[in-house]
Amino acid sequence: KNEYLRKPEWLKIKLNTNENYTGLKKMMRENNLHTVCEEARCPNIHECWGERRTATFMILGDTCTRACRFCAVKTGLPTELDLAEPERVADSVQLMNLKHAVITAVARDDLKDGGAAVFAETVRAIKRKNPFTTIEVLPSDMGGLRENLEMLMDARPDILNHNIETVERLTPRVRARAKYQRSLEFLKRAKEMQPDIPTKSSLMIGLGETEEEIIQTMDDLRAHDVDIMTIGQYLQPTKKHLPVIKYYTPLEFGKLRKIAMSKGFKHCEAGPLVRSSYHADEQVNAASRE
Ligand code: SF4
Ligand code: SF4
Repeated sequence: KNEYLRKPEWLKIKLNTNENYTGLKKMMRENNLHTVCEEARCPNIHECWGERRTATFMILGDTCTRACRFCAVKTGLPTELDLAEPERVADSVQLMNLKHAVITAVARDDLKDGGAAVFAETVRAIKRKNPFTTIEVLPSDMGGLRENLEMLMDARPDILNHNIETVERLTPRVRARAKYQRSLEFLKRAKEMQPDIPTKSSLMIGLGETEEEIIQTMDDLRAHDVDIMTIGQYLQPTKKHLPVIKYYTPLEFGKLRKIAMSKGFKHCEAGPLVRSSYHADEQVNAASRE
């Protein structure tokens, strides 16, 4: 039935073909760096890289050991661990003159530390070269091991973001190798380790969840001390990925945002094109203003 579910008007965004970023993209390739902005063909790239000076780097390679059914990242067994990557990311942050850098990574279930050491070093390298750039980390659960998260939190990022992605009932179908409860625990632990670092989580909707389930997820996140929530529309990256069950209207997103704020989140972004890292620069300020 999904073939008949047409993309609504508010999602038909025209990609700006007047390419201003050729230089930056070339620099990324030359340095063997990957950004989610480019790989997910994110529609917000002009706003983020241009006006907002935000970008999302994907470190630890371009091959993920997991295969979540909403995600377009290539799956397989990664072979390399690039110890010089942190410095190259830090240099690019400087070159792009970023105000806010988001660092995410593929899940490296092949490594005992889940990539935590390289992740933490990336945060430190960015800080050394860019003392005024705020840094948001968006790790996988890194095997759910306490010491891995600790290593990352010790590097003192400005925001710890870990995505719950979907409601509890749909988690086994949407991200089979992750666990809803484990993600909640992860967020809570991060808060216990460094109570002054805001925590954040994102939910994609449109995968068949009910409104009650969305609200339950908000309650679960708040019960685990999460400060910031983002809610965005799931879009099917290719025909092989999970179908979209529902396109929420901008009005419905507005309503969800209101509910989230009433639950006590310090900040909530909700909208059809909201991505985990969208308007992230504002969230740092909102979360640290208490
Ligand atoms: Fe990149 Fe995130 Fe901005 Fe998209 S919303 S362009 S992924 S920083
Ligand atoms: Fe994509 Fe992350 Fe899932 Fe890997 S763990 S498939 S990068 S969402």
